[in-house]
Amino acid sequence: MTFESLNPVTDEVVGTHPVHTAQQVDAAVARARTAAGWWADLGFAGRAERLTRWKGVLTRRAADLAEVVSAETGKPHADAMLEIILAVDHTAWAARNAPKVLGRKRRPSGLLMANQTARVEYLPLGVVGVIGPWNYPVFTPMGSIAYALAAGNPVVFKPSEYTPGVGQWLAETFASVVPEHPVFQLITGFGETGAALCRSGVDKIAFTGSPGTGKKIMATCAETLTPVLIEAGGKDALLVDSDADLEAAADAAVWGGISNAGQTCVGIERVYVHSAVYDKFVSLVVDKARAVEPGKQIGPITMPSQVAIIRGHIADALSRGGRALVGGNGSGRFVEPTVLVDVPEESSAVQEETFGPTLTVTKVASMDEAITKANNTRYGLGGAVFSRANGPALARRLRAGMVSINSVISFAGIPSLPFGGTGDSGFGRIHGPEGLREFARPQATTHQRFRAPLTLTSFTRPEKTDTRVAKLITLLHGRR
Ligand code: NAD
Repeated sequence: MTFESLNPVTDEVVGTHPVHTAQQVDAAVARARTAAGWWADLGFAGRAERLTRWKGVLTRRAADLAEVVSAETGKPHADAMLEIILAVDHTAWAARNAPKVLGRKRRPSGLLMANQTARVEYLPLGVVGVIGPWNYPVFTPMGSIAYALAAGNPVVFKPSEYTPGVGQWLAETFASVVPEHPVFQLITGFGETGAALCRSGVDKIAFTGSPGTGKKIMATCAETLTPVLIEAGGKDALLVDSDADLEAAADAAVWGGISNAGQTCVGIERVYVHSAVYDKFVSLVVDKARAVEPGKQIGPITMPSQVAIIRGHIADALSRGGRALVGGNGSGRFVEPTVLVDVPEESSAVQEETFGPTLTVTKVASMDEAITKANNTRYGLGGAVFSRANGPALARRLRAGMVSINSVISFAGIPSLPFGGTGDSGFGRIHGPEGLREFARPQATTHQRFRAPLTLTSFTRPEKTDTRVAKLITLLHGRR
């Protein structure tokens, strides 16, 4: 059986791909197992050399890949290029830093075990399954794929059914630089194929997608105690303090909320603005949002079923007394950039992930109120704070995995920073040292260098050893 990937602007067929069955998924995972030893034995240097070559191909052929991304998601070519550039940078970082983060290191062995040398090393998990979304079909899954590969694991990747062509492009180019073994394989299909990957006995599933699917994946993975990493949705807030650079904050709110037609997990959906600067900020946001050109600067809504959800959130906000200062309409798959004000906090536009080019802008009397409202959500992914004096203090109070101070979404472009959330936004981290460790198992070793004066781990231990140890431990820890 096959399925078609469509261009969301024209509805033209972009490609036809197999719907892989559970047996085919199992076979791909079995092939990956045969490659696991070889890939692990290449070591950090050997893997870095291959990943660097792949990164070179991605860079040189970025325009080709951007064409596939644009065709399948409808996003502008320049936006597709941006996500590819970021993915390249992350791949380079993962390859370069894996030895430092995961390599064997000494740890202090302590007084009781002074005769031992203690070490820890992060070894590959085995085979990693990656299940991806469509909204950033290169950048998002590569946050798992590149880091899992750098940590020494073969990867079996199930891209979204909306972007299988992007997955195919990635797998084919990888195979061109690693032709020897099936280190990075593609499987395509719908949720059932993803569920088969969860059941296939892989050593970890890295999932990026909606919280609802994340729960299903966790339940399926529970059957085999397969560990999961869940990168789910968000409802990110941007806070504007009374001393903020309003021009910059408005620009960030509009780009953070409306770029990629709002289909960004760490997109800004809510803005809380100090009452002292609210009117000025709103007028700047309105001007900037009006200037965004749908069809040129933003594309359509990629997933047809999302259009009704976005329009539903807008309608709900308006029916509860909210006002659309910009937009509120649109036809077919295009939703106009929309700025909503006076929206009650219990509205779906404030509570649920809209995943469209909309912003709610809400006046607050203090930054305490801004923090309370921003944190009043099931999600906890990213956020932004604009303040000249209090940026770091406000950022720390946000229940979010990542916060940009005086900019927006910058954390996603810094490979050394971990990326992920809490609550309905999931758990675990991609990117950075934390992202490398997600795909490795720590192994602790002790190496006895000489016989200890006090041998504790033997039945031949005399009574006086216990007495001495008791005295020693009292001396060390029992004085206060
Ligand atoms: P989705 O949950 O519909 O699908 C994601 C993937 O899961 C797809 O590949 C799909 O085929 C697969 N899938 C569906 N049902 C499955 C099942 N039962 N078992 C296994 N796999 C299954 O999400 P989407 O619409 O593709 O992506 C949009 C969502 O992703 C938004 O909520 C967005 O916020 C989130 N997202 C999060 C991040 C992040 O890093 N936190 C990044 C990008 C997108």
